[in-house]
Amino acid sequence: MDLYEYQGKQLFARFGIPVSEGKLASSPEEARAVAEELGGQVVVKAQVLTGGRGKAGGIKLADTPEEAARRAEEILGLDIRGHIVGKVWVEKASDIAKEYYLSITFDRGEKQPLLMLTTEGGVEIEEVAERSPDALARVHVDPLMGFQPFQARWLCFTAGVADPDEQKQVIGLVGRLYDAFVGADAMLCEINPLIVTPEGEVKALDSKFTVDDNALFRHPDIAEMRDLDAGEPQERLAREKGVTYVKLDGEIGILGNGAGLVMSTLDVIAQVGGRPANFCDLGGGGDAEGVVDALEVITSDPQVKGILFNIFGGITRGDEVARGILEALDRMTIELPIVVRLDGTNAEEGRAMLIEAASPNLYVEETMLSAAERVVELAGAR
Ligand code: GDP
Ligand code: MN
Repeated sequence: MDLYEYQGKQLFARFGIPVSEGKLASSPEEARAVAEELGGQVVVKAQVLTGGRGKAGGIKLADTPEEAARRAEEILGLDIRGHIVGKVWVEKASDIAKEYYLSITFDRGEKQPLLMLTTEGGVEIEEVAERSPDALARVHVDPLMGFQPFQARWLCFTAGVADPDEQKQVIGLVGRLYDAFVGADAMLCEINPLIVTPEGEVKALDSKFTVDDNALFRHPDIAEMRDLDAGEPQERLAREKGVTYVKLDGEIGILGNGAGLVMSTLDVIAQVGGRPANFCDLGGGGDAEGVVDALEVITSDPQVKGILFNIFGGITRGDEVARGILEALDRMTIELPIVVRLDGTNAEEGRAMLIEAASPNLYVEETMLSAAERVVELAGAR
């Protein structure tokens, strides 16, 4: 789950990482009140789950509360890379002497968290990596040993953070960012820019914070930060129903049992010239309840023109799944063509049950390829 900048900063503050004081506003009037309360120059920042807000006009300085209201009016409603701005974060403006970059991500190749620091911050890190890879200091953290302060000293030395007082602050900050990363079960913690003020104070001016969805049960306070209005409505519904679902762009709704099987189904649909509308994994089960929930999510996507069940009976037997599908179709009205490919344990019994049910829009196929061809043809999606 991606957090908004202000939420990431709340977590930063909790772990002792310095950030500017600020408040959220969802109208120009509120922005004016916040600016008044903070006093002095403020910065009005669009809160959207995407980067590059500065370039898109989503970040503006304001000298007076009236100006803050005007800036908020300009920014609210703005479309930034497809994200409409509904809220702005108004914080005390900072004077910037230097812009650095600091992050922790997972290096999946090395199976270890990776710390990165560069004094060329403020721009996108991909740009730095391409233009001056030597400026980017990188060090892995052994998850069992944990972060060691010498690693932060090495980062400072390699990236060229020369001032001793700055070094001291950055070293402390790297340790606290690692604490935040581990403490929140994060996948990514990025500070860009990490600024040094003319007075020599180091602080986080921005935050990019991604928390592992699978660990959210351990962090109810973070789970509550999820913005239910952001993201695809189908994915929201899926979350509510506990269905494993990812929205895609095509027309063929897909359900299968097992993530690997569903992934290969996506490939086969593409192979026969169709486009999958989603990824949906029924898991080990195939009971009517689970099938109804999954079908409700899939058919809530108006783009779906046909549905493909790809079931391989293992521990869950084919006839059980067939019964689940039929019961589900009894309980709900679906007019879209539904193609079922059933194989594995008790597949023949299952197929016989489906054929016997003789629903006009239910088609049974024996192989994955023929099922994919059939559903794409029926959906008229080729
Ligand atoms: P991003 O564009 O989405 O990465 O948003 P950032 O929060 O990183 O802000 C983009 C840029 O706006 C920063 O790199 C700064 O140059 C500028 N900026 C943000 N906050 C302030 C501030 O308090 N004072 C000043 N002077 N500039 C700021
Ligand atoms: Mn930034």
